[in-house]
Amino acid sequence: MEQRKKIDIVSLNFEELRAAVAAMGEPKFRADQIYQWLHVRGASDFSEMTNISKALREKLNDNFVIFSCAIEKKLVSCYDDTVKYLFRLADGEFVETVVMKYKYGWSICVSCQVGCKMRCAFCASTLGGCVRNLRVSEILGQVYAAGRDLGVRISHIVMMGMGEPLDNYDNAVKFISMVSDAHGLHISARNISLSTCGIVPKIYELADLKSGITLSVSLHAPNDEIRSRIMPVNKRWNMEALLAAVRRYIAETGRRVSFEYTMIRGVNDAPAHARELAARLRGMLCHVNLIPVNTVRETGLQATHAPEVQKFKAALERGGINVTVRRTLGADINASCGQLRKSAKQTDANES
Ligand code: SAH
Repeated sequence: MEQRKKIDIVSLNFEELRAAVAAMGEPKFRADQIYQWLHVRGASDFSEMTNISKALREKLNDNFVIFSCAIEKKLVSCYDDTVKYLFRLADGEFVETVVMKYKYGWSICVSCQVGCKMRCAFCASTLGGCVRNLRVSEILGQVYAAGRDLGVRISHIVMMGMGEPLDNYDNAVKFISMVSDAHGLHISARNISLSTCGIVPKIYELADLKSGITLSVSLHAPNDEIRSRIMPVNKRWNMEALLAAVRRYIAETGRRVSFEYTMIRGVNDAPAHARELAARLRGMLCHVNLIPVNTVRETGLQATHAPEVQKFKAALERGGINVTVRRTLGADINASCGQLRKSAKQTDANES
């Protein structure tokens, strides 16, 4: 018998779910109840929906599937309240998610792809290439599973985990609209940021959406020569093209853009690099976030020492640029993004 494909129900937005439920001949308020179960209470099975009749739950189960994230591993930092999850997806793939506690609330760093194809030289997530895009339900699922497990209300989201969100553009944008929807978690767009390595045409598209989210750009270099060496994406869209797109984003949204700058000893961390960077960014509504690179064994790259980071920061400030040095949270469980998944895959291979 031909197996009918079940619909990924969590990826349906409020209007789409209402339409699907109406097509089953059910009243509107049923869709509201189901949406609440899925997106506010984080239900991972139709059997949890106790205010819905058993007959309808069975019908839902026949037609729809809930793609949720199962906790494969959970690491809790002993220094602070940072928690790192390795989630198992329905097809056996893994993604990493980090939850951090700040004075202003709980923030989650979500992944958008299994692996990544961008091949940045310092990054662990890209070592095995990109396996696949995450579904909207799998990006939402990370927020729901973590919030449920910790029993906290997550108030801030950064799309800065594994993968390139703008390489999974439609799902990333739908995720933002659903997670900020009043029928769901209702997280303000102002509390959501998206980080990109610089997929220029998609930055223009995002600017046109005027969604109000914060854009973070992984810059990591003061010029094309260095950037192309550590970020192959720069060969496709160079810094001039990237900064032009960022200027448009600022003009369209009025939002300050954040530049990520990971400091790699002997590569991009000289005071002259800081001066060059300051000159390029001068006058832009922006902010630079310096991050000593996390060591990834395979890359052989090392972090800039703290005094040199401070000198770099001071040189940028003298050039009129707003700068912060990223606070390290969960230093004991960090293991660089992408490494947990990699080690899980290796264990899998050893066991099979
Ligand atoms: N693809 C997106 C988002 C994921 S990476 C992007 O490139 O922005 C999230 C951030 O972590 C990026 O700024 C990325 O450059 C940075 N990053 C990756 N590997 C790192 C490492 N080993 N040390 C420090 N930062 C790293």
